[in-house]
Amino acid sequence: RTVCVTGASGYIASWLVKFLLQRGYTVKATVRDLNDQKKVDHLTSLDGAKERLHLFKADLLEEGSFDAVVEGCEGVFHTASPFYLGVKDPQVEMIDPALKGTLNVLGSVAKTPSVRRVVLTSSVAAVAFNGKPRTPEVVVDETWWSDPDFCRESQLWYVLSKTLAEDAAWKFVKEKAFDMVTINPAMVIGGLLQPTLNTSAAAILQLLNGSETYPNSTFGWVNVKDVALAHILAFENPSANGRYLMVESVAHYSEIVKILRELYPTLKLPEKCADDKPFTPTYQVNVERAKKLGIEFIPLAESVKETAESLKEKKFY
Ligand code: NDP
Repeated sequence: RTVCVTGASGYIASWLVKFLLQRGYTVKATVRDLNDQKKVDHLTSLDGAKERLHLFKADLLEEGSFDAVVEGCEGVFHTASPFYLGVKDPQVEMIDPALKGTLNVLGSVAKTPSVRRVVLTSSVAAVAFNGKPRTPEVVVDETWWSDPDFCRESQLWYVLSKTLAEDAAWKFVKEKAFDMVTINPAMVIGGLLQPTLNTSAAAILQLLNGSETYPNSTFGWVNVKDVALAHILAFENPSANGRYLMVESVAHYSEIVKILRELYPTLKLPEKCADDKPFTPTYQVNVERAKKLGIEFIPLAESVKETAESLKEKKFY
């Protein structure tokens, strides 16, 4: 069985490729630069890669770039999308690659009858950012959508890019009548396979590298291995459909610091919050659909530990 993974060198995709190879799949994987060792060496050294991993160069904004890659594939996992902070030109850096890139990949799929399902890596970013008040009683579920106007007003460019991309993807697959499911994770943490630092692992690193304060933010958190596995289960289970929210715990940064303090009592960790306001409130996320898919969710404390140990091993702190 042959499948394709876009953006294969990324944090989530590297685990996805690892698990697909473990399960016996042949994987056609795209990267932007085949000569960049930081992007490919950790993939080519995976078990099974020599026999069953085929790397392709592809760029989200190059039309037809994915035609040869999806050719002959039964499944397409579209993970590639820019995810970083400090964007200068949101349209060019975030929105175009996310939105046009997704439609570009789906355009290749629409021409390829062998593909029976697309699994799109969307995000809680496309679900929960709509300005609705948060309280511990509020339950976010897959019927929620982020509001593009709210994202623009709040200058949440990454969030906007994921919202526009997922919305356009659903419209496209409806029109072309092919099968898609989306995986919508919150903040993804856990061990890194790639040698470079990704944005969500950096959220934990900022607590470990000597900072005095922690941010006053509350996020959903989920382990990267669960997210990668959810992609595969959503492809393999014929009755999988729609959106799968992936959150193990909703927790304020102060709770992450507490977990780190218990794990590493001698480490210098932030003592206080970055502002004097009340802590941003918690809320609930309904993940029943992901549980039915077979996800058991690795506990937050374990995910924080795996992230910290991996960042240490890779000498990020
Ligand atoms: P990474 O930054 O590690 O991976 C992003 C991937 O996208 C990289 O492989 C990158 O390629 C690729 N990419 C970016 N721009 C382009 C482009 N123009 N053309 C081709 N490839 C491109 O991030 P993650 O693994 O965290 O993210 C993977 C997916 O998961 C994204 O869709 C992201 O939105 C989503 N997600 C992530 C969450 C998280 O907390 N990490 C939470 C929810 C969703 P290159 O290596 O060449 O830069």
